[in-house]
Amino acid sequence: MNGLMMDCPLVISSILRRAARYFPEKAIVSRYEDESIFRSNYGQFYTRVVRLMNVLRDLGIKPGDRVATFAWNHRRHLELYFAVPCLGAVLHTVNLRLHREQLRYIFNHAQDRVIFADRALAGLLAGLKPNLPTVERYILMDERGPEPAELPTPWVDYEQLMEAASDREEFPRLDENTAAGLCYTSGTTGEPKGVLYSHRSTYLHAMSGCMVDTSAVGEREIVLPVVPMFHVNAWGLPYSSALAGATQVFPGPLVLDRPLAELLEAERVTIAVGIPLIWNRLYQYLKENKHDLSRLHTLFVGGAAAPRTLIEGFARDFGINVIQGWGMTETSPVGTVSRLKSAMVGWTETERLQVQVKQGIPVITVEARILDEAGQDLPWDGQHVGELVVQGPWIASAYYANSGADAAFTQDGWFRTGDMATMDERGYMQIADRKKDLIKRKGEWISSVDMENEALAHPGILETAVVGRPDEECDELPVLFFVTCKELAAPVEIQDIIALLGHKFARWQLPRPEDVHLVASLPKTSVGKIDKKALRLWLPCPPLEAQPS
Ligand code: AMP
Repeated sequence: MNGLMMDCPLVISSILRRAARYFPEKAIVSRYEDESIFRSNYGQFYTRVVRLMNVLRDLGIKPGDRVATFAWNHRRHLELYFAVPCLGAVLHTVNLRLHREQLRYIFNHAQDRVIFADRALAGLLAGLKPNLPTVERYILMDERGPEPAELPTPWVDYEQLMEAASDREEFPRLDENTAAGLCYTSGTTGEPKGVLYSHRSTYLHAMSGCMVDTSAVGEREIVLPVVPMFHVNAWGLPYSSALAGATQVFPGPLVLDRPLAELLEAERVTIAVGIPLIWNRLYQYLKENKHDLSRLHTLFVGGAAAPRTLIEGFARDFGINVIQGWGMTETSPVGTVSRLKSAMVGWTETERLQVQVKQGIPVITVEARILDEAGQDLPWDGQHVGELVVQGPWIASAYYANSGADAAFTQDGWFRTGDMATMDERGYMQIADRKKDLIKRKGEWISSVDMENEALAHPGILETAVVGRPDEECDELPVLFFVTCKELAAPVEIQDIIALLGHKFARWQLPRPEDVHLVASLPKTSVGKIDKKALRLWLPCPPLEAQPS
């Protein structure tokens, strides 16, 4: 039909141009591993991205080629976030905590032509090199970390290439449906699966991050992503921040306790983003060490359920809002965000917390349903648990190059998340479990996520995880592992934990005393979540080496 709106492609180069044109003086702060700071701004950043595009051209990178990164969060990684897709190539961010075998699989499956790696991490690639036939060159970024014993060859220094490259500005015209980024799922079962983001999906997702009811990234904000840039584009924060003209602060590899608290304080960060484990550690640290974090108004938490105690503790002790979001590699990742609606502001604290521990309502353009095993919609009553299925413009429609079973993608256009959840009358979704983690006792479900959340209300418990163990009579029974806080006034009694759980759970749902175990630490996945697959190998009780000394 005539007279419609303009058809302007939603491409990553327009995010870059906007940042450089309207916010050239806004800062990009990057901390090296030796804790020294590098400061630049979007104006200087633009010039460097243009150069980096020419570096890539000089290396013979063509549209569609995969360019891998193997790096922590820093300004050069940000340069790659823009230069690679702006050239029409695909930015493949690789999780540096993966096992060697998975790394080998991923680099080969993606057929990466070059790898941009932190120099300190390049030692990990040296051993893999003979098994990476598609990789022509390693470009090393010096982030002032320790020198590895061995480097992969042929390698060349990033800055050396930058110095030799031209400043000629040349942006190819790209269709908005061009591939821009590639990230593999952390895959605790089977081979990792590739998820391919487009310019359009990245742009739309970045816009949604700027909305007040999503991540609320605006020009006034100073944003620090603790979530690694190798994990689902650091949840889209670098793109949202550039779009909004927000200051960006990159912490490098030091993201725990003192170095994190000092950076948050010194750079007057207003929004920080990461998994619950990071914020739990920070909370414990801040209780004993004084820092002025008065500028920090929001901790955006996702990747695993945010415990009630965390939300409560940060608000009460530091006046910091913990906002929870849910997402997956396949959903770019932000799918839902839990913010209180205006009518809830006057509710009691307990009522508000009941909403805040949920994963929230779908963000704009995303649709969600919960289905029973027959694929029928379940009622939104906060009780019925079904599989969460989602749909939207930044949700994968298939895995990259057939990397994995496509059972999750059905003909009806909904992505089956593998997460089991409830929906309440107000549209707030709450994750009960991953499908495979839900515990089934005599045909009735027990949510491990719920039980972990309750156990964390014990002041002596730092971390906890619940898994099901097979039982002949009951099918499955819950087993709870816990780690205690460092400074304990009194030992944590197993009976007290069970009594605490008794406030929320029916008697038949409670773990038996012999199924509650104190351990020294819990196994974690490559993205820092509790590794339930590894935990199940401990059953029926933890091995000697996992027990506290
Ligand atoms: P990944 O693709 O590695 O980011 O993992 C995605 C999975 O993490 C989801 O399918 C959920 O099981 C889990 N997850 C993400 N965010 C949350 C959240 N806020 N609460 C509970 N589980 C979450």
